[in-house]
Amino acid sequence: MLGFYAMTIPENLAAVLERIRSSAVRAGRDPRGIKLVAVTKTVGLPDIVEAINRGATILGESRVQEAQKKISNFKFQISNPEIEWHLIGHLQKNKARHAVGLFDLIHTVDSVGLAEEIGRQAAKAGKSQRVLVQVKLSGEEAKHGAAERDLMETLGKISVMKDLKLEGLMTIPPYFEDPGLVRPYFRRLRELRDEGSRQGFDLPELSMGMSNDFEVAVEEGATMVRIGSAIFG
Ligand SMILES: *Cc1c(COP(=O)(O)O)cnc(C)c1O
Repeated sequence: MLGFYAMTIPENLAAVLERIRSSAVRAGRDPRGIKLVAVTKTVGLPDIVEAINRGATILGESRVQEAQKKISNFKFQISNPEIEWHLIGHLQKNKARHAVGLFDLIHTVDSVGLAEEIGRQAAKAGKSQRVLVQVKLSGEEAKHGAAERDLMETLGKISVMKDLKLEGLMTIPPYFEDPGLVRPYFRRLRELRDEGSRQGFDLPELSMGMSNDFEVAVEEGATMVRIGSAIFG
């Protein structure tokens, strides 16, 4: 019998997509409202190409430098205008220029200062940079993320930056063996989004959920799930 990690990438990918679909249906949502970000950090090019050949279109990387090497190699291997690269790891200001050059969407804007620097670099590059604001939910020990307490003020400042396109919120909750325990964090992010909407911010995207807990995230309103090990082993 094959164990989970002995399954192939196409099998894993199909299983993940099916689990996203059934969680959406269970929650009364349209499965087409949920995008899969295939997390390719530490994954080699052949495996990435295999995932793309099986329908993965959004690839998530957590480090600018690693992504830089991959994306430049990748351009020789395949040119598919539908492929998007997303930055899902922490971004330092001094790497903002590279990040703007590489990524379609940056999930990890965690301060007004970082947003300003990304905006400056986007202006130089003549690009409108799509971003999400990463939120550190209260009670969390996470290192990065904008504080929940003054999130509306932060969103107010970032949403008017002319070279950025603010599309939503992202969070990385603490890890729990039991995915049910993470549900309050996902729910809280959605509530913050709803509060933002009431204040006039357009925040369609909620980036939340990883291999261990994406079904719960979908039930709570995720529009982007970031999945690595369940696809690549
Ligand atoms: C690595 C990573 C993921 C994917 O984690 P898996 O548990 O392998 O699915 C998702 N989001 C972020 C921010 C990550 O760093």
